[in-house]
Amino acid sequence: MEENKETVSSSPMLVKTYGDIYFNTQDTEQAVRFFEELGIFPLLRYCKKCGSSMRKTNDKSRKDKKKWVCTSMTACGHVNTLRSGTWLEKAKLSFEQIAKIMFCWSHKLPQQFAVNESGASARTMVDWYNFCRDICEVVLMNQEYKKIGGEGKIVEIDESKFGKRKYNKGKKVEGQWVFGGVERDSDKIFLASVPNRTKETLMGVLEEYVDGIKDLYNTYFFEYMWRRQFARDNNDAFNKLAEHIVLYAKDLEEMTPTQG
Ligand SMILES: [Zn+2]
Repeated sequence: MEENKETVSSSPMLVKTYGDIYFNTQDTEQAVRFFEELGIFPLLRYCKKCGSSMRKTNDKSRKDKKKWVCTSMTACGHVNTLRSGTWLEKAKLSFEQIAKIMFCWSHKLPQQFAVNESGASARTMVDWYNFCRDICEVVLMNQEYKKIGGEGKIVEIDESKFGKRKYNKGKKVEGQWVFGGVERDSDKIFLASVPNRTKETLMGVLEEYVDGIKDLYNTYFFEYMWRRQFARDNNDAFNKLAEHIVLYAKDLEEMTPTQG
């Protein structure tokens, strides 16, 4: 992947529609330029053997129709494929297929649609869609998170357990629990891997990442859970409240507000 550090790409065109993908991959020449703009392929390369600059030349005999050749005068002769040293090194699909699949996944199109459009097999598509999800995981687990939430903000909490990853390049352990929160109406999130799911562990994570969680937990947690169980659609919230007051009257005696 060393070559990727040398990538200097102009800012790529914003891909908005499927037509943009068609336009940018209509032939190999265009597709290579597209991938260079996206930073997937480097614009410059230096020879691994002698350090001289390399030149991209046409080679019809190759699948990708181009290759990199060392320009050294000492007849170094080193040759690279377009894909070598990039994340596409081992990919078998054409640039057009790859771009189409990336578009389909990023726009939440069904795998079957991507199969029809790209001509790749359903099994291949499962791998590529999983690969895209793995990218999300790698990105998110390598980020640093700040506190989210705070006054007037709603934080939704969820958890997940890692399975065995096919493209495991990160440092996640198999079977690791991950705990996450999303601040509603914003793009703020946090993720934290935890050793277990005990109340203490989860509260520890919440206190670290969610602003004002202690108060929230005490004040609203039970209200939230009660509403989830008894008054999800709100229609009978009043009746449920009344019913529960009556049912637990003895326990509530000392808690009844007396100011007024
Ligand atoms: Zn060379």
